[in-house]
Amino acid sequence: METDTPSPQLFSTLLLDEPLLEALETLELVEMTEVQQVAIAQALAGKDLIVNAKTGSGKTLAFVLPLLQQILDNPQSVAQAIILAPTRELCRQINKQCTLLAQYTKIKTAVIIGGEDPKYQIKVLEQYPEIIVATPGRLLEHVKRGMVDLDAINILVLDEADRMLAMGFNDDVIKIARQCNEECQTVLYSASFNESKFQDLTDKVLYEAERILIDSTREGNENVTQQKILADDHDHKIKLCVHILQNEDENLNFHKAIVFANKKETVNSISGWLQSKNIPSATVHSDIDQDKRNMLLRKFRNDDLNVMIATDVASRGLDIKDLDLIINFDVPQNGEDYMHRIGRTGRMHETGLALTLVNAQEWNKMISIENFLQIECTERKIKSLVAKYTGPENRKSSGKAYGKKKDTKQKNKNKKKEINKIKVRARDKKNVGKRRAPTEKKISIPDS
Ligand code: ADP
Ligand code: MG
Repeated sequence: METDTPSPQLFSTLLLDEPLLEALETLELVEMTEVQQVAIAQALAGKDLIVNAKTGSGKTLAFVLPLLQQILDNPQSVAQAIILAPTRELCRQINKQCTLLAQYTKIKTAVIIGGEDPKYQIKVLEQYPEIIVATPGRLLEHVKRGMVDLDAINILVLDEADRMLAMGFNDDVIKIARQCNEECQTVLYSASFNESKFQDLTDKVLYEAERILIDSTREGNENVTQQKILADDHDHKIKLCVHILQNEDENLNFHKAIVFANKKETVNSISGWLQSKNIPSATVHSDIDQDKRNMLLRKFRNDDLNVMIATDVASRGLDIKDLDLIINFDVPQNGEDYMHRIGRTGRMHETGLALTLVNAQEWNKMISIENFLQIECTERKIKSLVAKYTGPENRKSSGKAYGKKKDTKQKNKNKKKEINKIKVRARDKKNVGKRRAPTEKKISIPDS
């Protein structure tokens, strides 16, 4: 379903129970966003949904609010709704939203994620929370223990569904979905869910799903100014980061920043360098102990730290106030990851800046991302740290550098030559075994 922009609608027009309207009022939430306007009504009607709407557009509330109303309509003292998300931090954040919206009801929630004490989680599950927010693996462990009865689940939400599947949770998600109640309503949310990539899942877990497309992946986030800075190598990128994050550049003031890198080792290297320059940061990747991750994220949220260095574990879903700068230390692997990373800033009505550091090897990847998202990142220069690299000398109409392709052309030519050579040899082989033309016999007469 493609939608026109409707005029803003108020939460108070929804048929919600008083405790939910009261919570919305306490949270000063008055007007629905576009995705909320469309998706809440469909969810309340009990439909299976696939919802695509851009980062920071209020998708969490779009699935939490109807889910709470449905539980109020049909109260039972067992878990009735499961929300699955790809990362532990995102689960905790979603749970926070649930508790805030449910604050005037008796609905209980539980967070069931890896890296935390399962014994404590068992105690929480024994309280029969109506809502469970979980990562798929840990939830299944509790299902096996008999702590969660999936048959009682009436609502299943998959947030950042594409990421969850790309992380290899496909089988776990399908297993969970299939054990839920036959009548279970399943809803998928993302800013970048490409249905054709996940046909297997949608076939298996959705029933006559309604598609809600508010804006496609390619309609980038217009609240974020996107620029690239050319860089020579790792050391040069470190210098650029240190310069920017020292926050002394009058053209580049920020309140809170995340630096994303593709690998854990790079994250560690950056945070080591920053520490040596007296820039404290929250370092977050999957090898860091969960308690520490929680503590660092809390400090980052509370303004005790204003720089975070992270892998893509922090690129999905996190909603952090006053986060106004994203630095991509590496060019991300693809356009979707790029979009989610920069989507940590410029959320709702805020604005932000995203800087991507690009070296010669990454030029073409960056152009692919820009072309895929139909954006053009302008080039920014830091006066004291201008790269020797100035971009490719010869560019194709796509903006990509010539060179590598030429090499492959040459390689292909060489290959062809080799193939030809082999063919000649093969033809020669045909003569193997054939009689040769008889040569004149010479009878040698031994010297005697
Ligand atoms: P998404 O999942 O689409 O990336 P979130 O659900 O994390 O976005 O919401 C982004 C921010 O917008 C959150 O801080 C949330 O509290 C806020 N928000 C959500 N809905 C509204 C609304 N209707 N009015 C104002 N702010 C909202
Ligand atoms: Mg979200």
